[in-house]
Amino acid sequence: AKATLGESVCFFEPGMDESARQRRQLAADLRHAVERGELRLLYQPQRSLRTGTLAGYEALLRWQHPVRGAVSPADFIPIAEETGEIIALGEWVLRQACIEARGWPGEEKVAVNLSPVQFLQPDLVEMVRAVLLETGLPARRLELEITETAIISDKLRALHCLRQIKGMGISVAIDDFGTGYSSLDTLQSFPFDKIKIDKSFLMRSEGSAQARAIIRAVLALGKSLDIPVLAEGVETESQLRVLEAEGCDEAQGYYFGRPAEAPSLEVTETRLQKI
Ligand code: C2E
Ligand code: CA
Ligand code: CA
Ligand code: CA
Repeated sequence: AKATLGESVCFFEPGMDESARQRRQLAADLRHAVERGELRLLYQPQRSLRTGTLAGYEALLRWQHPVRGAVSPADFIPIAEETGEIIALGEWVLRQACIEARGWPGEEKVAVNLSPVQFLQPDLVEMVRAVLLETGLPARRLELEITETAIISDKLRALHCLRQIKGMGISVAIDDFGTGYSSLDTLQSFPFDKIKIDKSFLMRSEGSAQARAIIRAVLALGKSLDIPVLAEGVETESQLRVLEAEGCDEAQGYYFGRPAEAPSLEVTETRLQKI
C-alpha cells in the first residue's frame, strides 16, 4: 500500500509503531481542521515594564481535536512542518490574527509566530502583504516572531526578506533567543525590533546563577544593540522583580495573563493596570 504523509486515508501497517501511526493520523486530521472549525487563536498579553502598559498580544494556535480533545501546538506544529501543511495553516493564522486584531477596541499590536518552513516560502512577503491589504490591519500593529532556525540556512535571502517585511512597517521579533542557534552575529546583522528571551532561562533563574547570568547578558546585549528585550514565561512576582532589577523592557507570562479568548481582552487589561 502506498501511504504518503498527508494523505487523508490512513494505512495501518503492522510493523509501524504506535507513535508513527498517531503522527500520521494527526497529519491527516490536521488537513481538515481549518474547514471543520477546530482551530482558534488565543491571545497572551505582553507588558511593557518601562511604562507599565499593555504592549501587545501574542497569538497562539489551539486545536480542539474531535476525538483527542486539545492537542498542543508543540505536538502538531512539527507535524504540520513535516507535511508542509504549515504553509496553509500559517497563512490562516496570520489572516485570522489580523482580522481579530482589527476588531479589538484598542490599537495593540498582535504578534504572530512564523514557522521556519513558512519563512522559506518564496512568496512569503507577497502573502503577508496581501493579508494586510485584505484585512485592513495597519502594518504597524503587526509583529512577526521568527526563530533563528528560519534564517541560518540562507542568510542573504533571509536578510532581503526581513528588509522587505520591515519596509512595509511590520516589526520583527527573534523568538526563543538563547536556545538553538542563537549567535551574536545574527543579532548584529539582522534588523530585529525585539529579542524574546526563551522562557527556560527565567524558569531556572531562581535556582541557577548561570541562568540569571544569561538573562543579564542578553539584556546587556539588547541594550548595546539598542533592541528591546522581552522575557517570556513570567509566572511569579519574584521573577518579575528579577527582570525589573536587571532592566528588562517587556515581559510575558502566566503572571500577567494566560493565553485567552479575544473577548476577555478587556479583563486582562484591567488586571494589568492593577499590577
Ligand atoms: P512560543 O512561541 O515560544 O510561545 C510561548 C509558549 O509559552 C506558549 O505555549 C505559551 O502558552 C507558553 N507560555 C506563556 N507564558 C507562560 C508561562 O508563564 N509559563 C509557561 N510554562 N508557559 C508559558 P503554546 O501556546 O503551547 O505554544 C507552544 C509553541 O507552539 C510556541 O512557542 C510556538 O513555537 C508554537 N506555536 C504556537 N502557535 C503557533 C502558530 O500560530 N504558528 C507557529 N508556527 N507556531 C506556533
Ligand atoms: Ca512566539
Ligand atoms: Ca518563545
Ligand atoms: Ca518556543
